[in-house]
Amino acid sequence: MRIIDHVIAGHSGGGAARTGEVFDPNTGQVQAHVQFGTQAELDRAVAAAQAAQPAWAATNPQRRARVMFNFKALVEANMDELAHLLSSEHGKVIADAKGDIQRGLEVIEFACGIPHALKGEYTQGAGPGIDVYSMRQPLGIGAGITPFNFPAMIPLWMSGVAIAVGNAFILKPSERDPSVPVRLAELFREAGLPEGILQVVHGDKEMVDAILDHPAIAAVSFVGSSDIAHYVYRRGVEAGKRVQAMGGAKNHGIVMPDADLDQVVADLSGAAFGSAGERCMALPVVVPVGDRTADALREKLIPAIEKLRVGVSTDAEAHYGPVVNAAHKARVEGWIQTGVDEGAELVVDGRGFTLQGHEEGFFIGPSLFDRVTPQMKSYQEEIFGPVLQIVRAPDFESALRLPSEHQYGNGVAIFTRNGHAAREFAARVNVGMVGINVPIPVPVAYHSFGGWKRSAFGDINQHGMEGVRFWTKTKTITQRWPDGSPDGGNAFVIPTMG
Ligand code: NAD
Repeated sequence: MRIIDHVIAGHSGGGAARTGEVFDPNTGQVQAHVQFGTQAELDRAVAAAQAAQPAWAATNPQRRARVMFNFKALVEANMDELAHLLSSEHGKVIADAKGDIQRGLEVIEFACGIPHALKGEYTQGAGPGIDVYSMRQPLGIGAGITPFNFPAMIPLWMSGVAIAVGNAFILKPSERDPSVPVRLAELFREAGLPEGILQVVHGDKEMVDAILDHPAIAAVSFVGSSDIAHYVYRRGVEAGKRVQAMGGAKNHGIVMPDADLDQVVADLSGAAFGSAGERCMALPVVVPVGDRTADALREKLIPAIEKLRVGVSTDAEAHYGPVVNAAHKARVEGWIQTGVDEGAELVVDGRGFTLQGHEEGFFIGPSLFDRVTPQMKSYQEEIFGPVLQIVRAPDFESALRLPSEHQYGNGVAIFTRNGHAAREFAARVNVGMVGINVPIPVPVAYHSFGGWKRSAFGDINQHGMEGVRFWTKTKTITQRWPDGSPDGGNAFVIPTMG
C-alpha cells in the first residue's frame, strides 16, 4: 500500500513507528498510510529550515516573487492531476477541488506582488536632521497546522505569504488528506524554492505539540475546529510564539421579506450542501424574517433539495460527494438525530442514503430542518455536514441578534433588495465576514480572512496585508547624520520633537 511520507529538506522522511489511514471516501476503503512524525522528524525539519532561511531572507524580494510566478504556472499545468488527487482523499467533486486549488493560487498571485507589500514607511525630517524609517523583516521559521476541508487553499494561504516575505515554513497538514500538500511542496521545489524553505511533516497531536513547544519556531498559524484552535492558541502563546488560530463556524443567512426567493434557494443549495457542507464558510442556518417568508422559502427549498444529486466525487453531474470518513458521517447523522430529539421538524431526512455500487462510501443525503430554535444544541454547535436548519425570526432585530449572539462569528449573509437594511445589518452584526446577497463571503486574496468570537483566536487575519503583518516583524530606525557642529542637546532629558 502507498505510504505518504514527510518532505524534510527536500527528501522523504524515512520510517515511522506510527501511521494513519487515508481513506477513499467514495469507496470507504483505506487507500494509503501516512507517516506520523515525532519530535525527531520535526528537529530535522527545523535544522534544515535554520540552514536555509538566512540566504532566502537575503534573496531580494523580486527573486522570491519569481518563485511564486513559477509555482503558479506549475500548479496550473498540473491542475487536473492535483484536483483528482484532492478529490480522491477529501471526497469533494472535481470542479470544487479545482476551486479549492484556485483560491489558494489567488494567494500566490498576491504573493507575486510581495516586493510592493514589503515596502516600509519613511519620514524625512522627523526632527532636526532626523529621519525615521521602518522595515518589515521575516520572523525566521513559521509553521502551519491545517484542516482536512481545504487541503490546497489553506496550506497556500499560509505558506504563500510566509515564504514570500522571507521565512522558512513547516506545514503539518491534516492527516486525513495529506497528499496534495506533499505535491504542492514538490511543485514549489520545482519552481526554484531552495531546499528547507517549505517542508511537510505529518502527524497528529504529538506532532502539533512538538511544533507548539519548539523554541526555534517563531509563529504558528492554525485552522481547524474551535476547541483545538483555542488549545493551540494558548499553548503556542505560552511558549512565546505569535499565534493565529481560526476555528469552527455556524454561518447564518438572513432572508428579508423582499428578497428574491428563487435566487436565495439557488444560493442556499450551493452554500449549504456544496462540498457536503464541509466548509467553514458554508451557510447551514437560514433565518427567514416573518412566517410568510419562511413558508414561501420552505416550499421552494424542499423540491430544490430533493433534486440534489449526491454522487462519487468524479461524477461531473454530482452536486456533492461523500463526507471525509466514517467517523464524520456518524457524527453528522448523530446531530440529525439530536435535532429530532430536541423537537425540530425534520422536513427532508438524508440519513440512510446509499449510492448503488458504492454502498461502503461515506455518503449522506441532504437534510432540511424547520422550526429550529436557538435553545437547541444542534443549532448551537457546528454540524459540518449536508444539513440546513431553518430558524424563523419575527423581525429584522431578532434576525440580527441570532448570528450576533451565537458563539461562532465567522461569516454571515443577508439577502434583501433593501439597501438600508443591508447597510444597517453589515454595520451592526457581530460577525467577521459579511455577504450582502453573497452567500459565501470569503474575501479575495488581497483582502484578509478571519472570523470573530470562537471562530478565531489571536488578532491578525489570514492573507492580504494582515498576512504580511503576521509573518513579519516591524523594525523602526531613527537616524541622524550630524554635520560635526555641536548641537547643544541635553542628553539627560528624553528627546522630543518639540
Ligand atoms: P480539526 O480541528 O480536527 O483538525 C485541524 C488540525 O488539528 C489537523 O491538522 C489535526 O491533525 C490537528 N489536530 C486534531 N486533533 C488535535 C489535537 N487533539 N491536538 C492538537 N492538534 C490536533 O479540524 P478538521 O476536522 O480537520 O477541520 C474542520 C474544522 O475546521 C471545522 O470546525 C471547520 O469549521 C474548521 N475550519 C475553519 C476555517 C476558518 O478559517 N475559520 C477554515 C476551514 C475549516
